[in-house]
Amino acid sequence: MLRPGVIGKDGRTTAIIRSLRESPRVSDVIELSAWKGQSTDEARRQVIDRASAERPDFVVVGPEEPLAAGIVDDLAEIGIPSVGPTRKLAQLEASKSLTRDLLRKHSIPGNPRHRIFRSFSPEIALWLRELSEFVIKPDGLTGGKGVRVSGDHLRTVDDGLNYCRELLDARRPIVVEERLEGEEFSLQSLSDGRTLVHMPAVQDHKRALEGDRGPNTGGMGSYSCADHGLPFLTSEQIKEAQTINERVAEAIREDAKTPYRGVLYGGFMATRDGVRLIEYNARFGDPEALNVLPLLENDFASLCEAIVHGSLDRTTVKFRPLASVCKYLVPDGYPHSPVKGEAIELSELLRREADHLRVYKAAVEERDGKTFMTGSRAVAVVGLAPTLDEAFTIAESAASLVTGRVEFRHDIGSRSLVQRRIDHMRAVLESRSELVP
Ligand code: AMP
Repeated sequence: MLRPGVIGKDGRTTAIIRSLRESPRVSDVIELSAWKGQSTDEARRQVIDRASAERPDFVVVGPEEPLAAGIVDDLAEIGIPSVGPTRKLAQLEASKSLTRDLLRKHSIPGNPRHRIFRSFSPEIALWLRELSEFVIKPDGLTGGKGVRVSGDHLRTVDDGLNYCRELLDARRPIVVEERLEGEEFSLQSLSDGRTLVHMPAVQDHKRALEGDRGPNTGGMGSYSCADHGLPFLTSEQIKEAQTINERVAEAIREDAKTPYRGVLYGGFMATRDGVRLIEYNARFGDPEALNVLPLLENDFASLCEAIVHGSLDRTTVKFRPLASVCKYLVPDGYPHSPVKGEAIELSELLRREADHLRVYKAAVEERDGKTFMTGSRAVAVVGLAPTLDEAFTIAESAASLVTGRVEFRHDIGSRSLVQRRIDHMRAVLESRSELVP
């Protein structure tokens, strides 16, 4: 029997734990660390102490911070393999400039027009003017909050210049790139370093409010379709993204001479000029993991073994042909001023939990049989069904069962929102034909 370990405490890690526990080969899942509320050094020590005592067969790392801190290297030193890249390879997420450089060096398509700056120079103003519509990204993990987009957060070239100066004064290299127009999607691939297994494509919704308004969040919810594509994408566009992930894994192996073992999660945008890479993440998406892990037909623990042993080429991986809709319930006021310590009532929801309705606890604490929100995304519900409409209805009515000071986006997975995506993609592609004489 297997005894895997996990690191993290969020909806994604809850989904990882659930998938591991569903395996008939798993006797016990060891929760090594929440990786929260401590210094990085303390968290590392806690993981290593517990892992040395418990000797898990392998460790699955949920969030990005432990990867960037090098927890996979620490575990390897005591002979424990991980589903997650080493510190060096996790730079793919932690450093946006390095990722842009990697694609350029290996002539992998997908980079927007971009330039990297390490110190302030007059060229920055020229570049911002040349781009006219631009995006400024600091290097390093920013929890999705460091990226600023012209027309959205930045009104003028001067606003852009000020933000560049602020970041460079803090000694952070920056990527300044063209602002792309299109539809975003996530493609997560499992990688053992040589073979990639692509998971169904997912569309996440980062904005707090319905109609994609309001501030950016960790992700309010997401959906995937029964055919594992998305209604606004062609199979060629999905293939383009898959090829980019494959070529990136190959490029990493060539450059670093170490296999990338874990999840390679590309954030892509389908544009009028083809599929472009927005960013890489070095772990499962949260919420995207909640959409795709319940669809996996394989035993997840055996799949993790294949990732750490480099034998994915001998594994046939299947996903159920179902659509999924995930909705996060968040505290009132999230993300800027969320209520904290408020109780929510989940009993009716939990009573209805079934294979087609999954509930994942995230930023909550349980005391005296009650559930209290801690300030971030609290609980996710996932509906699974043969059609997107049915999955939407399941998730929507499930989310409505939760009482307390919570909010959620009613529109995620709805027919009207999906139609807006399709119409937007069509308009983006038509703008291309207007350019062709
Ligand atoms: P990131 O942290 O790189 O995922 O960026 C956060 C968000 O900024 C993305 O989800 C996009 O919505 C937006 N974004 C990033 N890069 C671009 C770009 N080149 N063009 C348009 N939007 C972008």
